[in-house]
Amino acid sequence: MGKKDITYTPMMQQYLDIKKDYADAIVFFRLGDFYEMFFEDAILASKELEIALTGRDAGVKERVPMCGVPYHAMIPYAQRLIQKGYKIAIVEQVTEPGNGLVKREVVKLITPGMIMDEGILDASNYNYIGALVQDKLKYHLAYADLSTGDLSLMTDLAEADVIKQILVLNIKEIVLEKDQKRLEDKIRPYALISYTHGTLELSMVEGLEPYSKLAVSRLLHYLSDTQRSDIKQFNKLNLIEPEAFLKVDYQSRLSLEISESIGKRNTQTLLSTMDHTITALGSRRLRKMVDEPSRDQAVLNERYDTIDALQKNIILLNELRESLKGVYDLRRITSRIATKNASGKDLAQLRQTLSKLPAIKTVLRDYQQLITDGLNQNIQDFGELYELLDRAVELDPPLTLKEGGLIKYGYNPELDELKRASTDGKSWMMAFETSEKERTGIKNLKVGYNRVFGYYIEISKGSLEMVLPEFGYERKQTLSTGERYVTPLLKEKEAYLLSAGEKELALEYELFVALRETVSHYTKDLQILSDHISFIDVMANFAFIAKKYRYVRPQLQDTQTVRIINGRHPVVERALEGNFVENNIEINESGILLITGPNMSGKSTYMRMLAQIVVLAQIGSFVPADLAELPIFDAIYTRIGASNDLSAGQSTFMVEMLEANEAIRNATKQSLLIFDEIGRGTATYDGMALAQAIIEYVHEKIKAITLFSTHYHELTVLEQTLKRLKNIHVSAVEEKHSIVFLHKIKEGPTDKSYGINVAELAKLPKTLIYRADEILKHLEADKKKTALLNLFNFDSLDEMTTNYVSKSEEHVVETIKETDINSLSPIDALLLIKKLQDEL
Ligand code: ADP
Repeated sequence: MGKKDITYTPMMQQYLDIKKDYADAIVFFRLGDFYEMFFEDAILASKELEIALTGRDAGVKERVPMCGVPYHAMIPYAQRLIQKGYKIAIVEQVTEPGNGLVKREVVKLITPGMIMDEGILDASNYNYIGALVQDKLKYHLAYADLSTGDLSLMTDLAEADVIKQILVLNIKEIVLEKDQKRLEDKIRPYALISYTHGTLELSMVEGLEPYSKLAVSRLLHYLSDTQRSDIKQFNKLNLIEPEAFLKVDYQSRLSLEISESIGKRNTQTLLSTMDHTITALGSRRLRKMVDEPSRDQAVLNERYDTIDALQKNIILLNELRESLKGVYDLRRITSRIATKNASGKDLAQLRQTLSKLPAIKTVLRDYQQLITDGLNQNIQDFGELYELLDRAVELDPPLTLKEGGLIKYGYNPELDELKRASTDGKSWMMAFETSEKERTGIKNLKVGYNRVFGYYIEISKGSLEMVLPEFGYERKQTLSTGERYVTPLLKEKEAYLLSAGEKELALEYELFVALRETVSHYTKDLQILSDHISFIDVMANFAFIAKKYRYVRPQLQDTQTVRIINGRHPVVERALEGNFVENNIEINESGILLITGPNMSGKSTYMRMLAQIVVLAQIGSFVPADLAELPIFDAIYTRIGASNDLSAGQSTFMVEMLEANEAIRNATKQSLLIFDEIGRGTATYDGMALAQAIIEYVHEKIKAITLFSTHYHELTVLEQTLKRLKNIHVSAVEEKHSIVFLHKIKEGPTDKSYGINVAELAKLPKTLIYRADEILKHLEADKKKTALLNLFNFDSLDEMTTNYVSKSEEHVVETIKETDINSLSPIDALLLIKKLQDEL
């Protein structure tokens, strides 16, 4: 035997041959009604999916590890694996079972970047896969969403920007050429890596420069290769020129909570606050706009004009949004149709979507404005396609294609004939049952059908003795409750019905596939329609929000100045439901605002308010203010809060400096810089020195509009030397035992820092507060700022608390001292004592 021991059964050998080519995927190997996994895959999948690990004889001594999932329930299992970042290769039987081994092949590769199915994908988000090509020092990134047919190309990216783009766009998978170890290592922490050497050229890539062309055609090759189908959903290539967009890098997006935030779950972001769109199309379009805010004044003004037009008539605006309600995810449906993945449900949803077009067009027409007329004309009515679908597709078709229920009666004469036969068959069966009951006298006789035995006559146990030989009943199956029989007549009818039934299902499938093919000729037109509808949805969304929350049209101008009257932070305003304190922002040409004020007073909210208003203006939305004059910014750089980048093992201060460097190196005169409390991660004088140097550098060299908050109020003297620097502060009032933040921005520097008040508010031990107060007084008095080095006894609590005079006690003493007793009436004196008591 010897050698035979390592010879697997032919089937297992077939498996191993396939697996060899899909080493990095989990192979789902179709065996009858199951997808089986073997060896390492089985061990891994049984753990991840929590299913039983078994074994299978495979011609070798040891049983091969195996686990499996039923074929009809494969999707949820596959989803779970993909969400965990695995790739799955689906192996199907491609020949009918007969003698010998059935042929099997990989029919599809599913990876996190290549999901087509509903249910896994978030309707309001994209699911991108990208291909990256290096050209000396520059990179070309092509990225696509298989489910929507969106395809874009970004060229001339610096290496540092590649990872940022992968993060901003949340690209799940990157296709590379093999043997690019260094690049692979860089990308691996952020995206799954796949490889291809091939290219597929569609007409879209014509005219691109060689490396760009390579990125796109490599991506398309990988997609078509792994999908094993035409990728007809890709009809247009969007060229993304970094220069055309407002640049907000990933870190700043997080800090500003644009579309996600750090660590905090369920936080409202600018995107979630601004998304009142009706359709999935609109929701994704809004996300795209937020990912790529524009720098093009004409584009932005056109959007403002559209919002203006739409909000002129609130009744029509509501009607328009109402009419969008029945619009399904046309882009994804169209992709499934183009790639032959669409079900009957998809065609029914397409029909439903098209049925909404007349209403949408009518509302737009009723506006009777130039802009809305334009939007109306963009929308074709698709009457012919609608009629075809209306005539052909059943009202509520199933997801499956081979079990009928797809095509309406009246669409195809041959199919009608077969359908009639089966309805006739059903009534024949009923008549047969009645006549058999009469003929045999058995009242509870039943005629039934099952897949294995076909048609039968069932007699229950109690009536079995009534079955007589002359009935001609042939026993077919014995049950615990009775017997099942057939007769020659029933058999004959059965043969006819089954063949009619089979023919019906086959014809229905054939007609459906042909219909789907016909509809796929509309792919491009339907994609264009989707884009117009998504635009209308987003603009109506902006108009709705502008009306409801009092937003104003931004006025874009050519000077680097900002003027905002009664501005509000879009997200915080909603959360505070009417309690938000409005603030103005006035920044002169290339100005710097130095913001001082106690912690928790609203400095950072004020700065983020400007950043969010700028993003809103540059995605084409109105903004939360009574007036907003803004320049068009080229980028927003931020250094906000302590975003501890612990994973990279860097200290908070290092992260602070790296982010500051990013801003300072890249910012131009057209940028917006936001520095929140820079320098606080290090020793006081270090920090203050750095902060001052940064402010001076920005003022003298970069000249970008800058908001700089600081708790070093010593820096406010910079106003004397830096001409374009203006001090502002957030006001606070001391009251009783505490301070109250008014959140109102005022001109000039703050007079004090209130740090000790805040510590008192936070209820730090009284002795500690006392000591801090003592040190502060010393520092304020001592020009050399030497530390106070007497040893303080914190344990003498009683003494300290009695000796310690709090701010309010101080106030009471002051008031008593200043009161002129002679001028007080007895009543006034009583009232004063009451007031002073209240203060304590
Ligand atoms: P700082 O940066 O000065 O420490 P924040 O900007 O973080 O302060 O604001 C502290 C809190 O004050 C916020 O959580 C917010 O709820 C509230 N706040 C800030 N600005 C306003 C405002 N303009 N109106 C109402 N509440 C505000």
